[in-house]
Amino acid sequence: MAFDPAESAASLLRSWAHALLTHRHGSEVYQTSTMGALLDGVYDGDVSIRELLQHGNFGLGTFNGLDGEMLVLDGVCYQLRGDGSAQVADADQRTPFAVVTWFDADRSFEVTEPVDRAGLKARIDESLPSTNLIVAVRVTGDFSVIRTRTVTEQHRPYPPDYEQGVSVAGYHSHFLDAERRHGGHALDYLLTQGRVDISVRSDLHLSLPRTPEFLAAELNKADMDTQIRRTEGE
Ligand code: ZN
Repeated sequence: MAFDPAESAASLLRSWAHALLTHRHGSEVYQTSTMGALLDGVYDGDVSIRELLQHGNFGLGTFNGLDGEMLVLDGVCYQLRGDGSAQVADADQRTPFAVVTWFDADRSFEVTEPVDRAGLKARIDESLPSTNLIVAVRVTGDFSVIRTRTVTEQHRPYPPDYEQGVSVAGYHSHFLDAERRHGGHALDYLLTQGRVDISVRSDLHLSLPRTPEFLAAELNKADMDTQIRRTEGE
């Protein structure tokens, strides 16, 4: 490989800028609203995509009105719609639930044999010092099969018992193809080969909405765990 001083300087500048950002923002996970609020039908939040991207360059969530799944990758926020399409979200769009962090791989491993979702989850768990922390996982590779689903936009008045999955416990995966034109919430897949990068996090910055819907939501439901598991299809 030829040495390109311009490229090297650019990459140095990038890592310096990244180090600066990481230092300034810390290595926290930023979450807006809660899973409980989402399950209670609080589908509209007050945080814009512009504001969300000030808290991290990697993450997932959904949009107001549950208008598709969200994937934040390399500082770009993608909206994954019900028809399987992916497009860059507008900075003025808002989110009722999202989780982002400044992605910085603490550990990585290569996948050389085909593995499905359950198998990959086991390998990720094995690579972690503990499964009690928060992890952001980026899987880059070739998928021979991928099954996705995507929420579709809901209109006011929102049905209060509508169930939509954005997990709290366990892994929640969103998929985006190499061209960044198609994607969705990944239910299952077969990864034939690739690379797994993991950011381990222990600080959570929880930002609660002050919208009338959130203030009035019933958030201490006894069956929350059952509801979340049912929503996640477990
Ligand atoms: Zn999802």
